[in-house]
Amino acid sequence: MSGLVIIGASYAGIQAALSARDAGYAEPVTVVADEKSLPYQRPPLSKDFLLGETSEQKLVLRDDAFFASKRIDLLLDRRVVRIDRTARQIALADGARLDFDKLVIASGSRARRMSVPGAELDGVCYLRSVADAVDLKARLGRASEIVIVGGGFIGLEVAASAARLGRKVTVIEAASRLLARAVSPIISRFLLDAHVQAGVEVRLGVSVAAMTGDGGRITWVDLGSGDRLRADLVVVGIGGIANDELAGAAGLKCSNGIVVDEHGRTEASDIYAAGDCANHYNRFAQDWIRLESVQHAQDQGHAAGLAIAGSHAPYDSVPRFWSDQYDLKLQIVGHSGRGDQMVIRGAVEEGRFSVFHYRQESLVAVDSINRPGDQMAARRLIAAGISLSPANAADSSFDIKSALKAIATAVA
Ligand code: FAD
Repeated sequence: MSGLVIIGASYAGIQAALSARDAGYAEPVTVVADEKSLPYQRPPLSKDFLLGETSEQKLVLRDDAFFASKRIDLLLDRRVVRIDRTARQIALADGARLDFDKLVIASGSRARRMSVPGAELDGVCYLRSVADAVDLKARLGRASEIVIVGGGFIGLEVAASAARLGRKVTVIEAASRLLARAVSPIISRFLLDAHVQAGVEVRLGVSVAAMTGDGGRITWVDLGSGDRLRADLVVVGIGGIANDELAGAAGLKCSNGIVVDEHGRTEASDIYAAGDCANHYNRFAQDWIRLESVQHAQDQGHAAGLAIAGSHAPYDSVPRFWSDQYDLKLQIVGHSGRGDQMVIRGAVEEGRFSVFHYRQESLVAVDSINRPGDQMAARRLIAAGISLSPANAADSSFDIKSALKAIATAVA
């Protein structure tokens, strides 16, 4: 039995399987996953799940009956250890081998580990999988002093959840502002204030030098500044690393992820990659990038699935991301890298505003706090390459919908 084999049963892998099937791919489809659980939603792990507002069962994306109805075989708790391009087979850790005609690598990313002395102490945790989240939730229930290493999305979401649970939380961030690589300084400042108001201590421009323990358990975090923070739980959120080793060992080109074209195809015509593990040229970023977002994983998995079924529609979505912290919804559309102008729309003091980013007077990205309408409009404008003048963007009385009408006119 060969057909389509997919490594990884999360957003990208499942979408590739479904899109191939729905576009008429009739051969067997097998998804191999090393996690034990049915495919599940990852974003709530740092939010609702830690807060006890959703259960592990409610995280499940699709159940067995659904996969059976689509004739998709799901092999859980099975790890792929090698891709044999010559034999067109993958090898599993248990010694089994599976033939493939087409292969999708949707192996995602993993949490970057800390390498300072003491980083292996009990109580130093990471958050990537549902198993990590179950463990972290139990530890949060017992902990009183929590240090979060990293002021990125995961670190800040866990900080917000822990603060809501009444814990003493300190966030350590090496950069001079929060989310420095993802959002504008105005949003960084706004989120800093929100965390401080919630009782979180945020230390910027500081790194961790070592962790110290007692009886194998974390007790202190030693900072580069010489200060020490007492901690009975440390959560590390210092970024993700692409799971591209299988592809690299099989001789496929990797550069911060598996290099793919607009159909998710690697340099081997029958091997595709999608999601967090893939690196592609993105016209909105005007660069090669590796994105870590649900929307990207699904859309790129969709493009790969369609290509496998012979129905080619390139991946060309405007990048989108969201993060929930307290009652704040941060949304990002587009790619602000190399932007040269920013304007604010809305009221920062009311906690409802957007930052419009321009590159050579073209709208390239919008970051919003609690303004989903701006996001919807910006997504359509950026996708269509239609700009909104900075003056109009900054003018809250200007109706963005009128700019959207220009799209309809241009398309007609
Ligand atoms: P993954 O979801 O990483 O799945 C890859 C799967 O492949 C994993 O199950 C992995 O175990 C498996 N695998 C890897 N290697 C092998 C192998 N050799 N054999 C078999 N199986 C293998 N994104 C947002 O857009 N908004 C959010 O608010 C948001 N919040 C997040 C919160 C948390 C706590 C985390 C961890 C992520 C969050 N993300 C968020 C990011 C988002 O979840 C990822 O971008 C998305 O899951 C990527 O999907 P994927 O299918 O590419 O890979």
